[in-house]
Amino acid sequence: MTLPKSLVEGYRRFLRDQHAPERGRYIQLAELGQTPAAMVIACCDARVDVSAIFDAEPGALFILRNVANLVPPFEPEGMYHGTSAAIEFAVLALQVPHIIVLGHSHCGGVAAYRAKIRDKVPAQGFIARWLTLLDNLKVLEADTFAYGDEAAFELAAIRSSLVQLRSFPFIRKREETGLLSIHGLHFDIASGSLIALDDAGSFTALAAA
Ligand SMILES: [Zn+2]
Repeated sequence: MTLPKSLVEGYRRFLRDQHAPERGRYIQLAELGQTPAAMVIACCDARVDVSAIFDAEPGALFILRNVANLVPPFEPEGMYHGTSAAIEFAVLALQVPHIIVLGHSHCGGVAAYRAKIRDKVPAQGFIARWLTLLDNLKVLEADTFAYGDEAAFELAAIRSSLVQLRSFPFIRKREETGLLSIHGLHFDIASGSLIALDDAGSFTALAAA
């Protein structure tokens, strides 16, 4: 079994150019543990490099990636809730002050869901089952008008994840007491633009410097 050469070479560059010069920081992270500034729930999509988008240093972000950046409802009796386990750890153990749901353009997961409802394909396999989390998705006309049909579905998926996050009692409680803020963001791969759900409930451009 051989790793792809590009990965081995990349690891060598990481050790030489990033780990070695920042050795003190890594030792500190190892000894003191992690205190991330935020949890980010993003898509698995290889084009969405969360740490790069936020220019985040090691230890800064607690990142969970799954297909289409979805959050399941709070189901304490559920079986293998990897996403919920990560959320629970971030909020209750690490006490992150922010949770960011980061969607993105050209999301294959959301596109698969759109194809499913368009072609009325019955759910089969892990992805189809996972994407039933999007059943009853509410696509807002305002989102479609502002960002087009495809992005409006992606924004609706982000809105849905935010609703599901608030179905977790410990999240709702911390949000109500001001200990936790929840954010919805959407990243456009080609342009690099990032739009954020504002207090009025609309997605608007995040102020660039
Ligand atoms: Zn995606």
